[in-house]
Amino acid sequence: MRKPIIAGNWKMNNTIAEGMKLVNGLTSLVKGIKDTEIVICPPATALAVVTTALHGKNIAVGAQNVHWEESGAYTGEIAPAMLAELGVKYAIIGHSERRQYFGETDETVNKRARAAHRAGITPIICVGEPLETREKGTYKRYVSRQVRLALADRKPQCVAKFVIAYEPIWAIGTGKTATFEQAQEVCEHIRKTIAKLYDKKTADSVRILYGGSVKPETIKGLMEKPDVDGALVGGAALKAKDFSEIVKFNR
Ligand code: PGA
Repeated sequence: MRKPIIAGNWKMNNTIAEGMKLVNGLTSLVKGIKDTEIVICPPATALAVVTTALHGKNIAVGAQNVHWEESGAYTGEIAPAMLAELGVKYAIIGHSERRQYFGETDETVNKRARAAHRAGITPIICVGEPLETREKGTYKRYVSRQVRLALADRKPQCVAKFVIAYEPIWAIGTGKTATFEQAQEVCEHIRKTIAKLYDKKTADSVRILYGGSVKPETIKGLMEKPDVDGALVGGAALKAKDFSEIVKFNR
């Protein structure tokens, strides 16, 4: 059985003071929950304080990006070991905003995922089609190509531990969640793609999340779908109450 993951992506929001207020509110609202992995991904500036505050608690911390080199002349970047040192357990990789505004490619996604895994950090690899591709009807091919390139040259035992987030670009920050059926269709397709590239056992181990305007009202229907193992939440992760309600989808 795959353990559900609810991950909150704060994006470029929250100072340390604001972030800690959110963390404190959330900690008490999700106290005692063990059957769902709860992850929050603050901006890099807040990672040290937030990981310290959450040490030993049931909320793990993720970064929003990670570089693939171990050290060196890469101004502005953060190495995997630097995150691991803080106790960061996850890293979002290849978010559509990084692909769109910061030149992230399938190749750099692949390198970042590999480097994260080697440092003991679980990559949350984001894939998802733009609106034109959805409208053209070629979205399944588009997404399976992203998955194939992201996983290229990785061993099955490593892929089995990865998390993939299907985030259709047209649903991100737009208030327009994909229907439960649309989310399931592509998450199932991603799992089948992994089964073809590797084997069924590997595909059955990978956790596949849906992301894009997830709200407390939509999480239950999404989680009822067999291939949706959790959610990557943006806007609704900025409010402790909303995020905690998403975390408590099965209560
Ligand atoms: P959203 O963002 O929930 O605000 O649509 C999701 C994401 O970008 O991860």
